[in-house]
Amino acid sequence: MKIQNGNGSWDSSRKIRETPTSGASLPSSKIIDCHVHLAALPEGTNGCYVSRKMLASPLFRYLMWKHGLDANNPRQANQQYVDELLKELRRSTFVGKVVLLGMDGVYDAGGKIDQSETHFLVGNDYVLQTARAYPHECLPGVSINPQRRDAVDELHRCAELGAALVKVLPNTQQFDPANARYKALYRALAQRRIPLLSHVGYEWSLIGKDQSVGHPDRLRVALDEGVTVIAAHACSSGLMFHETFHATLLTLAGTYQRFYADISALTLPNRLKMLLLLRDHPEVHGRLLFGTDYPLSVFHLPVWGRIERSAWRDIVNTNNRFDKQFKICRSLGIHFHSFDQLLRD
Ligand SMILES: [Zn+2]
Repeated sequence: MKIQNGNGSWDSSRKIRETPTSGASLPSSKIIDCHVHLAALPEGTNGCYVSRKMLASPLFRYLMWKHGLDANNPRQANQQYVDELLKELRRSTFVGKVVLLGMDGVYDAGGKIDQSETHFLVGNDYVLQTARAYPHECLPGVSINPQRRDAVDELHRCAELGAALVKVLPNTQQFDPANARYKALYRALAQRRIPLLSHVGYEWSLIGKDQSVGHPDRLRVALDEGVTVIAAHACSSGLMFHETFHATLLTLAGTYQRFYADISALTLPNRLKMLLLLRDHPEVHGRLLFGTDYPLSVFHLPVWGRIERSAWRDIVNTNNRFDKQFKICRSLGIHFHSFDQLLRD
């Protein structure tokens, strides 16, 4: 299969036979990571927001500390986050471009933003501007909560400005993707041929409410309207060793041609069982898209005792998160594709 990307074509069948973990055989071109979070503190008119509760959360404080970001200097911290991301990306051997993801807020029954329930918001204009500033490395992945009153208008506005996909996180954004009221948005997504990337499973890293809305079956309404849907984390539930959505992943892939899943975050201890299960299902590998869930860490735990020692050592010594994710998944025999495959299908 030939896959076209920004740097030329990428022959996945050839790459699959190669062993990139050796470090010797490199791909002729790079792929796109479809799941990279843009994070930003509020500064002036950038349209971003972080609640006090979120600022005090262990994950947020850890990420601020890890990236050396100063919450008292938001403008500098925001640029530093982008600079660090680009530095790591430019050093990657296998990944050349990322989809930067925004994060919409929570909306009330009337479709108005609910400030008291919104803890983290990365605005679409900030996502679009940042991607536009680095066109060779970034694509804009805007976020539109279907519950917002102007959801369809916002989609068309963002589409005109070059949005590559729409990201949603139902658990945190407090909406049910299966709600028939959202069909107008889904039809507009299908008409625009803009994929919907939805978080799947439980949500621990942000503040979640109704965890049941993370069930992948709830994406059927969008799929039935013809939307290209990307289920995040390959439908992993996020519950250690309880991969309740494994059968659902296989069923959705078998039922809908426009159903895809990304492999982001699958090296995390609470999701790695799905990564290991994917080894036994080559029939769905054609629907897997590369992703990391940057800035989350990539762990080498899944390859322990499962690959040759030299390849294991190479992975352990790889600090670049994009390359580490690539090597781990490939060394386990899991085949995946670049986001731009969707643009061709
Ligand atoms: Zn994510």
